[in-house]
Amino acid sequence: MVTTVVPEAVPAASAGVRLASDLDVLGAEEVEALRAANFARTVAAARAVEAVSARYPELAEVRTPADLPRMPILTPAALAAGSPPRSTEFLLGPDGGMVLRSSGTAGEAKTMFHSWEFKHQVDTLGMRGLRALLPDPPRRLANCMYPGNLNGAFMFVLGLAERLGALAFPLGSIARPEETAAVIAAHQVDTIVASPAYGTEVLTCTPADQLRSLRHFLYLGEAIGQERERLVAEALPDVTVRSVAYSTNETGPIGYQCARQSGATHHIHEDAVIVEVVDQETGRPVPDGEVGELLITPLKDTGMALFRYRIGDRARIETAPCACGSAARLLTLMGRAGQSATIDVWTISADQLLAALRPLGVSDISQCQLQILWDFPRYAVRLLLAPSVPAGATPEAFLEQARAHFQLNAVLTGRRSASVTVEYVDLGAFAQNERGKVPVFYQRF
Ligand SMILES: [Zn+2]
Repeated sequence: MVTTVVPEAVPAASAGVRLASDLDVLGAEEVEALRAANFARTVAAARAVEAVSARYPELAEVRTPADLPRMPILTPAALAAGSPPRSTEFLLGPDGGMVLRSSGTAGEAKTMFHSWEFKHQVDTLGMRGLRALLPDPPRRLANCMYPGNLNGAFMFVLGLAERLGALAFPLGSIARPEETAAVIAAHQVDTIVASPAYGTEVLTCTPADQLRSLRHFLYLGEAIGQERERLVAEALPDVTVRSVAYSTNETGPIGYQCARQSGATHHIHEDAVIVEVVDQETGRPVPDGEVGELLITPLKDTGMALFRYRIGDRARIETAPCACGSAARLLTLMGRAGQSATIDVWTISADQLLAALRPLGVSDISQCQLQILWDFPRYAVRLLLAPSVPAGATPEAFLEQARAHFQLNAVLTGRRSASVTVEYVDLGAFAQNERGKVPVFYQRF
């Protein structure tokens, strides 16, 4: 296959969406023009499919990104109801592609359809993001994402390794950390891509001289949190720890980090996605610099139509431009919107738990996990704290601090609560879900 590369923009697919080959060299007006053109293609493709235009009659009035708020907000539940095999109301076609499923940790599992064209766009964005981040892109890349079970991350990492021309080691998160470390040592692997929990385990539990070849730890799937970042920096101070992308199974890549960004801040792929930050209650836009809930509209003309998708993350758009000079705005993630758990009849939030634990020395939510272990009709409550939390937190102190927080107090002291314990354990002992994410609230039934 012969691909012609146009200096400013390359076709993302055989279809119409076009992406800048390097977003950061474009001026704000060029970026806006590219986004507007891609938005027009997205709308035209959706209007051309009968089922999609029936689902979205508002499309008839939408021309430019500024018209987008005329469309309804798409909730995860509505997406789940409209997804194959239940319904085809979001399908743009063609038929070939991949069926993925979101992890379903927050509510109903959603089945997604990514056409091969869209997969191509996803890989291109991933590659473009890594080029902006690393002056020395990966040459030998250990892919330790969770493989299979309709999860897209493993294929995404393999796809971007291919685009970068790197040598890929498709280990998956099913390889034991010591096996992964052995492959890194034997093959002089320079980059590991993994969930924060898995990657941290490999990097902190392996003798440092075995990982001499490693230059980058790139995480994907969730924020790494201060606690794991600190542990990795202590073990391997020369390894850069960065986000591969801010990306989800539903939307594809939304953000990327340049060399000046780390933690939870990403540039927006402005030509490929429209990001709105809205008030969680009213759905109205909040000013730049203020935290709100994210609505994501990926620009594409194949796969599934997603307009104003409520992705479930809270974030703010930074008011100051990045020092790298890019016109692509900066988005800082502030955690999952309403990260919460319903235990028996009570719903508790991560914010509430953190507020109760601050007086005990917990400064970051990644330092704790609240486990609810059912033995029906009762449950045991187990609070796990990282070793970096000051010593001395006791069940009595936890109960005392929780009294000011009605729902949390009800969970701890209600009639179904059999016991409350507090334990200091290594982060590796925190429970993970099947895809290697570490939830704040973990229930075992
Ligand atoms: Zn930048």
